[in-house]
Amino acid sequence: MSELKYCQGPKCHTHDTKDRKRGPKDNKRNETRRRSSFHYLGGNACDMRCEREWFDVYGSRALDHFGRITEAKVLTQDNAWRVRRNWNHPQADTYYAYNYLTEERRPITEQQYDNEQTITDDGRLAI
Ligand SMILES: [Zn+2]
Repeated sequence: MSELKYCQGPKCHTHDTKDRKRGPKDNKRNETRRRSSFHYLGGNACDMRCEREWFDVYGSRALDHFGRITEAKVLTQDNAWRVRRNWNHPQADTYYAYNYLTEERRPITEQQYDNEQTITDDGRLAI
């Protein structure tokens, strides 16, 4: 069983829902949601509202911390890669890297498809 973790939404406890209520009957209080997995904010927030509230509080600081884009990035053949999955033909060439400028396809493994580092953050093929 995986460990429970708290929603990182700073106002999660302020949203009044039944499942956030904890404590004895005469002294119920709302608490931050705790689950084994979440589907928002990269697996860190319980819903879209908590994801939005996280960004409202921390988004600008995160941009300042990791560095803002200060000049235009340019799309070229070298940074036009995406990983794709061919849903229609599960046997052959199921996973591939696709260059949407040149339309080149390069077969990749399922592992490479799932690996976030196969394509760099700026769209370059890293394999
Ligand atoms: Zn939440």
